[in-house]
Amino acid sequence: MTVLEECLSPHVAMLQRDHVRLEWCAPYPVLERARSVAWTCFCRATVYELYEGAGRAFVRRTVQLDGGHEIHETAIRSIHETRAIWTGLLSGRAR
Ligand SMILES: [Zn+2]
Repeated sequence: MTVLEECLSPHVAMLQRDHVRLEWCAPYPVLERARSVAWTCFCRATVYELYEGAGRAFVRRTVQLDGGHEIHETAIRSIHETRAIWTGLLSGRAR
Protein backbone atom coordinates (compact mmCIF):
# COMPACT_ATOMS: atom_id res chain seq x y z
CA MET A 1 0.00 0.00 0.00
CA THR A 2 1.42 3.36 -0.96
CA VAL A 3 1.13 6.38 1.25
CA LEU A 4 -0.01 9.57 -0.40
CA GLU A 5 2.48 12.17 0.69
CA GLU A 6 1.24 15.11 -1.27
CA CYS A 7 -0.87 17.65 0.56
CA LEU A 8 -4.34 17.92 -0.91
CA SER A 9 -5.61 20.79 1.22
CA PRO A 10 -4.28 24.34 1.26
CA HIS A 11 -1.81 25.70 3.80
CA VAL A 12 -2.15 29.18 5.24
CA ALA A 13 0.28 31.65 3.68
CA MET A 14 3.01 33.34 5.67
CA LEU A 15 1.51 35.96 7.91
CA GLN A 16 1.69 39.48 6.56
CA ARG A 17 3.11 42.21 8.73
CA ASP A 18 -0.05 44.34 8.79
CA HIS A 19 -2.49 41.45 9.21
CA VAL A 20 -5.90 41.64 10.85
CA ARG A 21 -5.98 40.06 14.30
CA LEU A 22 -9.03 37.84 14.57
CA GLU A 23 -10.78 37.29 17.87
CA TRP A 24 -10.60 33.62 18.87
CA CYS A 25 -13.04 32.43 21.51
CA ALA A 26 -13.46 29.20 23.41
CA PRO A 27 -15.93 26.94 21.55
CA TYR A 28 -19.57 27.35 22.49
CA PRO A 29 -22.65 25.43 21.37
CA VAL A 30 -22.28 25.79 17.63
CA LEU A 31 -24.75 26.26 14.85
CA GLU A 32 -27.07 23.33 14.49
CA ARG A 33 -26.24 21.28 11.45
CA ALA A 34 -23.17 23.37 10.72
CA ARG A 35 -20.80 21.41 8.56
CA SER A 36 -17.19 21.82 7.62
CA VAL A 37 -17.03 23.06 4.02
CA ALA A 38 -13.30 23.85 3.76
CA TRP A 39 -10.18 23.13 5.78
CA THR A 40 -6.46 23.62 5.71
CA CYS A 41 -3.99 20.76 5.55
CA PHE A 42 -3.68 18.53 8.60
CA CYS A 43 0.09 18.26 8.15
CA ARG A 44 0.45 21.54 10.03
CA ALA A 45 0.09 21.80 13.80
CA THR A 46 -2.63 24.42 13.38
CA VAL A 47 -5.63 23.47 11.29
CA TYR A 48 -8.37 25.89 10.25
CA GLU A 49 -11.86 24.79 9.24
CA LEU A 50 -14.69 26.80 7.71
CA TYR A 51 -18.11 25.79 9.06
CA GLU A 52 -21.41 26.81 7.49
CA GLY A 53 -25.00 26.14 8.45
CA ALA A 54 -28.38 27.84 8.30
CA GLY A 55 -26.98 30.86 6.47
CA ARG A 56 -24.36 31.51 9.14
CA ALA A 57 -20.74 30.52 9.47
CA PHE A 58 -17.65 30.53 11.65
CA VAL A 59 -14.03 29.42 11.50
CA ARG A 60 -12.62 26.82 13.89
CA ARG A 61 -8.93 26.77 14.73
CA THR A 62 -7.49 23.52 16.09
CA VAL A 63 -3.96 23.36 17.45
CA GLN A 64 -2.83 19.73 17.49
CA LEU A 65 -0.80 19.23 20.64
CA ASP A 66 0.76 16.08 22.06
CA GLY A 67 -1.60 16.19 25.02
CA GLY A 68 -4.74 16.85 22.99
CA HIS A 69 -6.28 19.49 20.79
CA GLU A 70 -6.77 23.14 21.62
CA ILE A 71 -9.86 24.48 19.85
CA HIS A 72 -10.94 28.07 19.33
CA GLU A 73 -13.58 29.60 17.09
CA THR A 74 -14.49 32.95 15.62
CA ALA A 75 -17.85 34.49 16.40
CA ILE A 76 -20.74 33.33 14.23
CA ARG A 77 -21.24 35.69 11.30
CA SER A 78 -22.88 35.68 7.91
CA ILE A 79 -21.47 33.24 5.37
CA HIS A 80 -20.31 36.20 3.26
CA GLU A 81 -18.34 37.78 6.12
CA THR A 82 -16.89 34.48 7.26
CA ARG A 83 -15.74 33.56 3.75
CA ALA A 84 -13.91 36.91 3.62
CA ILE A 85 -12.20 35.98 6.91
CA TRP A 86 -11.37 32.54 5.49
CA THR A 87 -9.76 34.10 2.40
CA GLY A 88 -7.77 36.44 4.65
CA LEU A 89 -6.56 33.50 6.72
CA LEU A 90 -5.38 31.54 3.70
CA SER A 91 -3.61 34.53 2.18
CA GLY A 92 -1.90 35.64 5.41
CA ARG A 93 -3.91 38.86 5.75
CA ALA A 94 -5.69 37.69 8.90
CA ARG A 95 -4.91 35.29 11.70
ZN1 LIG B 1 0.18 19.78 4.10
